Amino acid sequence: MNTTPLLEELAKRPLVCDGAMGTQLMARGLASGACGMTWNLDRPGDVGGIHLAYRNAGCDLITTNSFGGTRFALELHGHAGRVAELNRAAAQVAGAAAGDQGWVLGDVGPFGGFLDPVGDTSADELREAFQSQIAALLAGGADAILVETMSDPAEAVVGVEAAKACNPNIPVIVTYSFQKTAPGEFRTMMGTGVAEAIQSATAAGAQIVGTNCGTSLTLEDYLELARQLVAAAGKTPVIVQPNAGSPHMENGKTIYKATPEEMAATAQRLLAAGVRIIGGCCGTTPALLTAMSRSVKNIKTPA
Ligand SMILES: [Zn+2]
Repeated sequence: MNTTPLLEELAKRPLVCDGAMGTQLMARGLASGACGMTWNLDRPGDVGGIHLAYRNAGCDLITTNSFGGTRFALELHGHAGRVAELNRAAAQVAGAAAGDQGWVLGDVGPFGGFLDPVGDTSADELREAFQSQIAALLAGGADAILVETMSDPAEAVVGVEAAKACNPNIPVIVTYSFQKTAPGEFRTMMGTGVAEAIQSATAAGAQIVGTNCGTSLTLEDYLELARQLVAAAGKTPVIVQPNAGSPHMENGKTIYKATPEEMAATAQRLLAAGVRIIGGCCGTTPALLTAMSRSVKNIKTPA
């Protein structure tokens, strides 16, 4: 548990968030499509080992293994009744690795459906589901809530409201996933542009906003997107968590090819664009985050 508030520290220096969890779990034997959240209880050593590798890579912010932690997402694996125990364990495992110099971000991913009128889930139902998840993450010791990989600003807003209902003082971060459309604009899968997405999140009370996991974005695209985010966010700090470059398909597998040097250079350019928190999404590893963290913290790599 870090006794310095996250937002206070962020006002003083840029921070580094961690990288991918799902691909790291699969590297340790999680079957594709299986529920990774049960590992918070069944294989805490593996989950904690991934957190610790990111912490040792220099990451200040450690994200809980709870992306699919709403009852809606857990229901797909028959675990809808285990929201409290699995999310609480996720925060506890991350907290043990973060130690007293790191901060734990309680991770909240999309619930997996659509809000009405497009889908049949009401905002009230979703708020209740997010609140159950977030209450458990906070009970486990999360320092902030990360509402991530959002496409629908309405869902992001419900996420922020749920976090604030659990604890009005908890910092809330919202990140959207954007794609580049034919005219060269960045839009979410739901068609929302950068300014509208950011405006919705900050109006709801998000204190940090940004992007993660772009769809087929190059590292150059992330830079352009970062500039737009910084402009749209005004005084609100911006977080950017790029994938390890644009993915390629090889033998039916998704491969990310960005090198540590490319990711380190991207981190440096994101900082120069005004981004305050830099991390990674799909395809990133402790090795890539080490290079990015050294770049952000201006640590020279020994030759
Ligand atoms: Zn991703």
